Order: sequence, then structure tokens, then C-alpha cells
Amino acid sequence: MAKGRPAKTVARLLHVVARGLAYLWASPNSALGLVIGFVGLLTGGKVQRRGPTLEFYGGAVSWLLSRTPLGQSILAMTLGHVILGSSAAALDIAREHEWVHVRQYERWGPAMIPAYLLASVIVFLRGKRAYRDNPFERAAYDATSLRYGNFTEDDGPTR
Ligand SMILES: [Zn+2]
Repeated sequence: MAKGRPAKTVARLLHVVARGLAYLWASPNSALGLVIGFVGLLTGGKVQRRGPTLEFYGGAVSWLLSRTPLGQSILAMTLGHVILGSSAAALDIAREHEWVHVRQYERWGPAMIPAYLLASVIVFLRGKRAYRDNPFERAAYDATSLRYGNFTEDDGPTR
């Protein structure tokens, strides 16, 4: 028993250090999310903390999301440890999916956004759907129960 204690303490310490590094590695993306979220707060938006993330919704955040290529059908978008949602309800629906993206940001760090965009270009050039066939999205959809709206993955991103 006594032997297990220091090992547990070391394991806990390593976990804390690893989590700190994950936040640091993803922080350039989180910073971008915080800027957008802050503008959202200035324009009537709200913020809430859920798990390892800060979630912003409403105000300029919702306005901005509706102007992405996915338009009105977008529920949420992850930037590092910040999740931007079109509404509180949308965040509740999309959270599990977005947390997969959070883990991707923790793995890819500053390379995440360029890698994501490049993956979309590659799948599009191969005649597939730039959003739904993106391997980062496939991983998130495969790992969770979220389906696009009420459609299955074969229906594609239609409203
Ligand atoms: Zn996604």
C-alpha cells in the first residue's frame, strides 16, 4: 500500500502537467475563440463553463456562425478550448461532438486549423463533401451520437 502512494502522486502530477501542456498547445486556437466570444459578450451574448471548455453563444457569435458555409444549420464550432454555439440548446446537442474536436485541438495544437482546412480541400478535390467527409468531422461523428440535424450521415449536410 505504502509503495503505491508515491506512484499515485507521480501519476497525478504527470496528469496535471499533461493537461497544462494540452491547454498551452491548443491556446493559440483558444485565444481566437476568446476574442470572438468576447465580441459576442459585448453584443448581448452569454458565456458558460462546461467541462474543459468555455462556451459562448448569442450576440455576434450566433450571427457569425450563421454566416459560415454551413449557414443556419450549424449548431456549434470549436476553437481550442472554446466552443461557439448558435444557442444554449444547440450547445447541449452538439457538446459531445465538439469535445471530440477539443481533443483534436489538444493533439494538433497550432496546426489544427490549417490541417482541418487542408483536409477539406483534399476530400473536395477527390469529389467528396468538404465538411462531412473531412476526417476530423468523420472522427467526431463516428465517436458520438450526433447526426446532422435529423439526418443520417448518408444524407449529407442539408437542411
Ligand atoms: Zn464537427
